[in-house]
Amino acid sequence: MNSDIEQILITESELQAKIKELGSRIAEDYKDKIPVLIGVLNGAVMFVSDLIRACPIQLNIDFMAVSSYQDSTESSGVVKIIKDLDRNISGRHILIVEDIIDTGLTLSYLLETLQARHPASIKVCALLDKASRRRVNVPIDYLGFQIPDKFVVGYGLDFRDLYRNLPYIGVLKPYLYEGITGDNDI
Ligand code: 5GP
Ligand code: MG
Ligand code: MG
Repeated sequence: MNSDIEQILITESELQAKIKELGSRIAEDYKDKIPVLIGVLNGAVMFVSDLIRACPIQLNIDFMAVSSYQDSTESSGVVKIIKDLDRNISGRHILIVEDIIDTGLTLSYLLETLQARHPASIKVCALLDKASRRRVNVPIDYLGFQIPDKFVVGYGLDFRDLYRNLPYIGVLKPYLYEGITGDNDI
């Protein structure tokens, strides 16, 4: 285990088993459609790539990059689009794929922005949910795991753009970020 990690919260095999389950549910629900899975960069990069391999149907993938609170562990509520979609999603069935829903502010902004483009439907798939921190109500149609209010890294999730390559979800030792208001996506 990486020495900056206090505890492994979700192991690699637990992640992979859950993703197989989510992939099967999504494949069943979208078997008669060609959905567009939208990975929210950078945090969802591992999740979306494993999820699509667990989803044996016709689908498109696209990516958006948003930044909500650069270099902070707390959300400012200000969300900026760093990279937009490459396609028109009007009339398409959209599945947003997120790493973690914390305050819900990022997802709420994404839903509003994408809804304005008139997709046929929008659903949300999130690997992790820190429900105790929610500030706005957002729907999660497919969820991997509920987690406690701890700052986690690994499997795409970073602190200061590090630890994304860990194959598990771990709790970062708090002394590493205490006193720093600092980190979010990108
Ligand atoms: P929200 O807008 O829901 O507060 O924030 C969602 C984003 O905050 C996530 O996409 C992620 O980038 C970041 N975030 C929230 N909680 C954590 C956490 O425990 N660890 C990491 N690495 N990022 C988090
Ligand atoms: Mg995210
Ligand atoms: Mg981040």
